[in-house]
Amino acid sequence: MARIVINKVRKDFGDFTAVQESTFTIEDGEFFMLLGPSGCGKTTTLRMIAGLELPTSGEILLDGEEISQKPASQRDIAFVFQMFALYPHMNVRKNISYPLVSQGMRRHDVRAKVLEVAEILGIVDLLDRPVGGLSGGDRQRVALGRAIVRNPKAFMMDEPLGALDAEFRERMAEELRSLHDRMGATTVYVTHDQLEAMQMGDKIVVMNNAVVEQFGTPQEVYDKPASLFVADFIGSPSMNFLRFNGAVEKGATTVSLEGQVIDVPQQLAGASGDLIFGVRPEKIILNDSSGYRGEVLAAEYLGTTQIVTIKTANGVVKARINADQVVTTGELVGLSFVPESITLFDEPSGKANLSVLNQDVLNNGRS
Ligand code: ATP
Repeated sequence: MARIVINKVRKDFGDFTAVQESTFTIEDGEFFMLLGPSGCGKTTTLRMIAGLELPTSGEILLDGEEISQKPASQRDIAFVFQMFALYPHMNVRKNISYPLVSQGMRRHDVRAKVLEVAEILGIVDLLDRPVGGLSGGDRQRVALGRAIVRNPKAFMMDEPLGALDAEFRERMAEELRSLHDRMGATTVYVTHDQLEAMQMGDKIVVMNNAVVEQFGTPQEVYDKPASLFVADFIGSPSMNFLRFNGAVEKGATTVSLEGQVIDVPQQLAGASGDLIFGVRPEKIILNDSSGYRGEVLAAEYLGTTQIVTIKTANGVVKARINADQVVTTGELVGLSFVPESITLFDEPSGKANLSVLNQDVLNNGRS
């Protein structure tokens, strides 16, 4: 069992702050993603959980026990690195058994445990092979085997699939997720790939510039982004942003874009000033009866759908529509929007209108 609480954890390297007062909770058995662009502080956060780096302030609780100043060797947490470092002079069996041998486990027990792990990973036939000639995927399985065999409380994975080519990466991602589902061990996984985070994670922390921008399920961060950064980073194409100055009067459920009345969710009432109207590409409907119009700049055919780029008075947007809907470059089209999918952001702060967000999403782990 491993529930990990990160409470106001900060890490400074001299004058530079790599992680600023992060707060979130990783529940027992979760596959938990730390997502963000290069340099945002993901690896530093992971290393602090594993004990490879000590926080400057804040606390880390593992099953209720404060561990933030404990050395890695006393945390019972396994770390799987991107460059799956294996001992090249040892065969697969010896690589996997190494952590048990160094703990002093009896030979008979080591053999049984290594066989059990090799069966889980489907690499029994590789046990006596040298690691040198193995494929990337098999090397990754051996590295995982070495982590699993210790039966740790939790696994920390730092871009473990980063070195694999795209096709292999997808297969290993599926394998990792199904392995996790079978074993149920708490896993914290660092990635800069939003698709990987969305596909694999039970929960996602989105980081930017050393700050946790949002913490929630993949659906929460996709449907209810807390900031422009999250809305832009998650999804491909990302959320569309239409800039305007206006207000959603108390009790009203509409905004005015270029004089056209557009329905928005009731929770947005109260937003006003320089606002950004956020809408996902698949929530735009091209509909000739709408008075809000734009010019088609391009259409990109993707098989079942197409991405249509449209210039409006409030900015260029991308709409994902059915491939069989006919659109022509240069034509003027009407745009309407699925009302409940709209997010309004405050232009100066970049934050979503808070009343639309489920308070659980914002407060998760902060109580
Ligand atoms: P990447 O995917 O590129 O590794 P990341 O989000 O994992 O990015 P971190 O490795 O956590 O980012 O680094 C965050 C910032 O802290 C970076 O600017 C990095 O240069 C800095 N940093 C990390 N470790 C140290 C260190 N030991 N000394 C000084 N600065 C560091």
